[in-house]
Amino acid sequence: MTARRSTRGVALGLAAVLLGGLLAVVPSPRPAAADGCYSWSRTLTTGRSGSDVRRLQVRVSGYPGYGRRLAIDGVYGPNTRAAVRRFQSAYGLAVDGIAGPQTLGMIERLQDDDCTPISFSYREIDEGCGGSGFSGGPIGAAATRSAALITLWQLQALRRALGSSPIVLSSGFRSHACNRAVGGAPRSRHLYGDSADMVGTPGLCAIARQARYHGFAGIYGPGYPGHGDHVHVDRGGASWRAPSCGV
Ligand code: ZN
Repeated sequence: MTARRSTRGVALGLAAVLLGGLLAVVPSPRPAAADGCYSWSRTLTTGRSGSDVRRLQVRVSGYPGYGRRLAIDGVYGPNTRAAVRRFQSAYGLAVDGIAGPQTLGMIERLQDDDCTPISFSYREIDEGCGGSGFSGGPIGAAATRSAALITLWQLQALRRALGSSPIVLSSGFRSHACNRAVGGAPRSRHLYGDSADMVGTPGLCAIARQARYHGFAGIYGPGYPGHGDHVHVDRGGASWRAPSCGV
């Protein structure tokens, strides 16, 4: 969750300077209240680039549009603008495609201090065989964790679109050892942190259908062998197979 946005801190500081002049008091600079994860310090819009844009892209990665994925490249182009517009619409904000104080403030309220979205945690997606800290896979712990963070923000968008009813992750990242132990496919996307298995009250078909809008390249659910009791999503696959759901 979030504390005050830094821009508000700047505004308060400016007010203190003006008031200080009237009262002949010299205010000491005070740091803006920090979000436990990250606070954006400027409005982001088309043409901007940088690590702050990249962080924004991670958090709107669940809004690429039907059948699409948002590139996390640190460049605020038309696809990022469109994703911001969808995010704004989902949260009842003014839809202008510009990530200003309202939009960034909403994102800060949605993020936990470890940068995961409020409805999901690293621990849930590192479930595998009890959790390995994202180590033991083919791409290393740091890259796996980064991939998992994007997945969690996609899931937050999916959850929101389904009316914020609970979605439970029944599997996420698996180390090689874990994947072997559970009989996963040798090249399972579960090795990469970009996938999750889910159950939830909206129903499996509702999840499978809605997932098409939130950046998942692979979707497997009811009607696909072995997926009658959960929905699998990932970013590395290339097909949607949930025939019992019309997907
Ligand atoms: Zn799966």
